[in-house]
Amino acid sequence: MKITSIDVFQLKPRCVPHTMRGVVCRINTDTEIYGYGEAAVSYGKGSMAGFHMIKELAPIILGKDPLRVEYLWERMFKDSFWGQSGGPIFYSAMSAIDIALMDIKGKAFGVPCYELIGGKHRDKVRAYASQLQLSWPGDDAEGFKIQVTPEQYAQQALNAVNEGYTAIKTDFTCVGADGKMRPTDSTCGIVSREMIDTACARIEATRNAVGPDVDIIVECHSHTDALSAVQYGQAIEKYGIYYFEEGTYPMVSQTAKNCARKVNIPMANGERIYTRWRYLPFLLDDSIQVVQPEIANCGGITECKKICDLAHIFDASVQIHVCGSPISLAAALQVEAAIPNFQIHENHVINKVSFIRELGKYDIAAEKGDFVIPDRPGIGQELSEYALQTAYRETVQ
Ligand code: MG
Repeated sequence: MKITSIDVFQLKPRCVPHTMRGVVCRINTDTEIYGYGEAAVSYGKGSMAGFHMIKELAPIILGKDPLRVEYLWERMFKDSFWGQSGGPIFYSAMSAIDIALMDIKGKAFGVPCYELIGGKHRDKVRAYASQLQLSWPGDDAEGFKIQVTPEQYAQQALNAVNEGYTAIKTDFTCVGADGKMRPTDSTCGIVSREMIDTACARIEATRNAVGPDVDIIVECHSHTDALSAVQYGQAIEKYGIYYFEEGTYPMVSQTAKNCARKVNIPMANGERIYTRWRYLPFLLDDSIQVVQPEIANCGGITECKKICDLAHIFDASVQIHVCGSPISLAAALQVEAAIPNFQIHENHVINKVSFIRELGKYDIAAEKGDFVIPDRPGIGQELSEYALQTAYRETVQ
């Protein structure tokens, strides 16, 4: 089998909240088999940079046997100069290609990707409802609404619990009491009592609404730093928080370690930590207890499995980060099906709503807070006709 061409897509969902511009590639071969992968640059800045990075990497794999996944991973890593010590754009593109190669490999052998990385450990995964500060609307929502008051935060959590979720995640600090996004300059250093009190009132209302048995994950998006994260983390220990996410910048393990030592809540980080090499210092100093590799920027399925195994050595559990199209959601489920140290699956609100789900050929959605692992060959997902017709596309051959 040989790789003949690579299609690169920038998805165009009919609603575009949260700068959602998924970047997906399809690797075509000289057989009827093709594979899909995604680059995790649909949010923040960098969507088209990831799009073009896939095109730049394409010549490394064109004409090659797609089943030699590790060999091609090493070629992208070592023969591109920037692969060794790359950043989010580079590793997102590399991840998209790796996921697509694994999709091809699963289809070639007629098995789901989880069979290629150790076999199925579980049939379904427990999920949490993620990013409730954006609301947890009905599936047919046309957008999201920023939440402000404690009562609103409590109501979004109840919306999720009423759908069967037993865990939720919210960023309680990013929106001020005035309903405006807090400037990130104001959330670092020693922060105001008002910011802590506003967040605590929202958490308390959420805890009172959902009761003691629902797990609450606190998201910080690295808007906090080692000083404010400790101040905030200590203030919310009393609410029984499941874990505390991205309290510090995902760049220096010592600041994360400082936070982990001073706050009595498990620490999570990783959606902006790439490859096993970047995870190692965080695990060596026990600054992360729940690793969150983003399947579409950590190096793909191949590298994500290695990061999960590395974390297992240090008794760190895994929640794969997912915030993209149905392609990366499907890829994440394949890894989560196989690893022993799985903790919980993230169902970002972007992956809940129909205007994103309709971009996938198969509707993979939570059922009472759980996801059933698809058993179709490969990653078990591809772009829908609607997504293919509406996306911007370029082809390298
Ligand atoms: Mg996050």
